[in-house]
Amino acid sequence: MAKWKSLFDNISLAGIGFFLDNKHTYKGTAFQTVFATLRISFARRSFFPLHHYSAVMKRSIIILLFISVLLPVRADKAQSQSITDNHHPREFIFPDVPGFHTMSADLHIHTAFSDGHVLPRIRIQEAVRDRLDAISLTEHIEYLPHRDDIPLPDRNRPYEVASQLAQNEDLIIINGAEITRGMPPGHSNAIFLEDANKLVVDDVLDAYKAAAAQGAFIFWDHPSWKRQASDAIPPFSDMHREMIADGLIHGVEVVNHHRFSEEALQIALDYDLTILANTDVHGLIDWDYDTEDGGHRSATLIFAEERTKEGLKEALFDGRTVARKDHFLIGREEHLVPLLQACLVVTGSSYLPNTEVLELEITNLSSNRFILENISEYSFHLHTQVFEVEPFETMSILVKTVNVLDEISLPLRVLNAVMAPRTSPSITLESVME
Ligand SMILES: [Zn+2]
Ligand SMILES: [Zn+2]
Repeated sequence: MAKWKSLFDNISLAGIGFFLDNKHTYKGTAFQTVFATLRISFARRSFFPLHHYSAVMKRSIIILLFISVLLPVRADKAQSQSITDNHHPREFIFPDVPGFHTMSADLHIHTAFSDGHVLPRIRIQEAVRDRLDAISLTEHIEYLPHRDDIPLPDRNRPYEVASQLAQNEDLIIINGAEITRGMPPGHSNAIFLEDANKLVVDDVLDAYKAAAAQGAFIFWDHPSWKRQASDAIPPFSDMHREMIADGLIHGVEVVNHHRFSEEALQIALDYDLTILANTDVHGLIDWDYDTEDGGHRSATLIFAEERTKEGLKEALFDGRTVARKDHFLIGREEHLVPLLQACLVVTGSSYLPNTEVLELEITNLSSNRFILENISEYSFHLHTQVFEVEPFETMSILVKTVNVLDEISLPLRVLNAVMAPRTSPSITLESVME
């Protein structure tokens, strides 16, 4: 398998090197399709690890490669086209990080079973379109406004229905529910439930205890929700502290729907809570997130040892997450930096002829746009100190190294990511010159 892996890695990189020009466009139609497909396959290695490729798929890839090599390159005639044409911007595509599969999940979703406006089938189709790995339908335990028309005597039905509908999809369904109480403690989701009916109790703490007794992962929902916090500052209380200490709260939404809360992020860092982003969607993802116009939902990236429900659960309890709102990433440095390093890779480096100006080719392997700031000792020749890399784009920056170097480590700050309130992480692009 190692042989396959390195062969494909090399072919993929060769493809990038040969067929991307300096204007960040992708030329040559047959080559484009083959190599774009390969590159995306590698970006999504978590979803299609090579050892899972069937013999037929491997053979198909080899045949495609062979055909592509036989075709003449007509870059001059081929029309320029961006690689992003192969993907809808709503899709969550992120490379794996060392030691972990990068998975994506929306763990706070409503349907008409509680106060949402659609049935579970729509939720499954939305998640498949977004290429999420997992969702949880988390109906309110205490609030069932459609009860007269859609009674819910068994609180596990949303999970059962969704599991049935998702049987043939590459989508993990997690049993969950929203404990919906006044502040404190407000609303919390309990997921990985065995029996959601056990949460239908009078005392609020008994509901949390019933969830914890099932090994559920419990997180504080929308802590800055204005209806429970008029100043939109999370009303973090002694009750919350005690519940965290007692193992009744394990995470917090730093992003709920469109809203990001710096204060919630600080609480997560101070109390070792898992950082989450969810939609809490009641209507349609397409309407709430303007997917027709390039938008995508909020969701959490989760770094799992194995690509299973158990792997997700273990990762969530261990806090291995990055929250995503629009193109903004929020997480602990230890999780954020490896992700950013995996997304942004150097795919070429060489000096412009007879100069000390280094052309560094950077490829973004993810569906996230990045805003980068030059914090190196060198200045740039083409770009200003702040520049952007679009999803799946390959671009060149020109670095004035003054002397000709054998290798370079270029530190960049990622401005559209935070590892603490208003604190952006840095990555290093490293390359040995060709
Ligand atoms: Zn709620
Ligand atoms: Zn909710």
